[in-house]
Amino acid sequence: MKGKKVKIIKASHIGFCFGVKRAIGSAEKFLEKHRKAYSLGPIIHNPSVVEDLSGKGLEVISDIKKAKGSCLIIRSHGISPRLKVKANKLSIDMLDATCPFVKRSHVIVTKLKKENYKIIIIGEKNHPEVKALLEVAGDGALVVTRESDLNKLGLRDGKIAVVAQTTLSRDRFFMIVGSILQLNCLECRIFDTICNDVVQRQTEAKRLAKKADLVFVVGGKISANTRHLAQICRQQGAKTYHIETAKELKLSWLKAQPLVGIVSGASTPAGIVEKVVTKIKTNNIARRN
Ligand code: SF4
Repeated sequence: MKGKKVKIIKASHIGFCFGVKRAIGSAEKFLEKHRKAYSLGPIIHNPSVVEDLSGKGLEVISDIKKAKGSCLIIRSHGISPRLKVKANKLSIDMLDATCPFVKRSHVIVTKLKKENYKIIIIGEKNHPEVKALLEVAGDGALVVTRESDLNKLGLRDGKIAVVAQTTLSRDRFFMIVGSILQLNCLECRIFDTICNDVVQRQTEAKRLAKKADLVFVVGGKISANTRHLAQICRQQGAKTYHIETAKELKLSWLKAQPLVGIVSGASTPAGIVEKVVTKIKTNNIARRN
């Protein structure tokens, strides 16, 4: 199969972000010593990593009661205050691997709540980080996912404060903040709590998608930051495939695509990205022969 060689441009920001690296490192260290622990939901949104940790003794549960008398590793997304109380009642030891940037959002929101601001969290209602943050923000706080959610608000003359899910798309944040500012509130405070690592990956994704004919976004399908990267690439008009592993990459997709971009989410191991690169390079060799 002779054909033109595919050129690859890989984002420079590849591999785990600081928070994910920290969470996995804590879990591995604990499991090496104690052999068994639980996480409420997957510790990170990447199935390969979750499977690997499961082999080392980390069991994913959906009901906290299952961890009674044992150890719960709090994932990087954090945990709600209500669940913390419940865990204490069940004599569960907690190894807190909440990302410090997520904790920073908790601190900001706690302060704003005391100062009687109505808190708006821009993010996805069902994301574990947002669910926990909403509980910290207390009654009256609101999650806004899209601009139309603002129609439910009667904020004129109110005092509001806005924070964002750490993995939100920055473009979406600015768009919704723009609409909030038109609500004519008495006072409006905006906190850009989107994580820097996420912003860098989004900026690179945009740049690569503008250049490349095709972009592979590598990462967990349930990973919010990876899905946002895929959205960003599509918005730039690039043909985009969101894949979890090299196995999902079909060589037929590479036909007539001379320039291929590769970006990855904050919870994607660098090794998985390398396998994607190798698969494309191997195909290049096969084309030449
Ligand atoms: S993406 Fe940012 S906020 Fe989320 S875990 Fe990684 S470093 Fe922390």
